[in-house]
Amino acid sequence: MPLVYRIDALDNIFYVNDAWMVWARQNDGDSVMPDYVLGRKLWACMGDPTVLQIYQRMVAQARAGKPVQFNYRCDSPAHRRVFAMSIHSTDGIEVEFASALVHEEVRPVVALLQPGRKRDQRMLRICSWCQRVAVSVDRWLPVEEAAQVLHLMEADSLPCITHGMCERCAETMLKTLEGDSSV
Ligand SMILES: [Zn+2]
Repeated sequence: MPLVYRIDALDNIFYVNDAWMVWARQNDGDSVMPDYVLGRKLWACMGDPTVLQIYQRMVAQARAGKPVQFNYRCDSPAHRRVFAMSIHSTDGIEVEFASALVHEEVRPVVALLQPGRKRDQRMLRICSWCQRVAVSVDRWLPVEEAAQVLHLMEADSLPCITHGMCERCAETMLKTLEGDSSV
């Protein structure tokens, strides 16, 4: 069962399906509960300008009658997961986002991704599409490697995580969207 949410003409989230709610409860806790999410602007949960720009273009393209599809990673501390996202609009106004799990594998727990761990003031950027972590300005590594390079395995406090988009994923997505002259 795919995880589904929908936005209205004003880009407010007005619907999430049961599968989405169950998933949110298991994975993210209170900050994504329906009470908190419903009625909010989709853009309110996107702090990164590149992610915001790409999502806005995808929504415009879906409303123009051209569905957008892409794969992305959405890991848990103990699982690598690939989801297929499909964004489409049936009436040119409301837009539906549907994510289906296409691959999942177990891995040793990655402390950096565990909620409830002690955090300090450092900020680490993680790519919302491929889940690689920026270990320096233009170097992105898989989260397990990043934890080693940054000596996070033995640290007693961990950096905070902020979601962004790596250059490689931004380029790929922009190319996909640029192929469509209507956006
Ligand atoms: Zn990426």
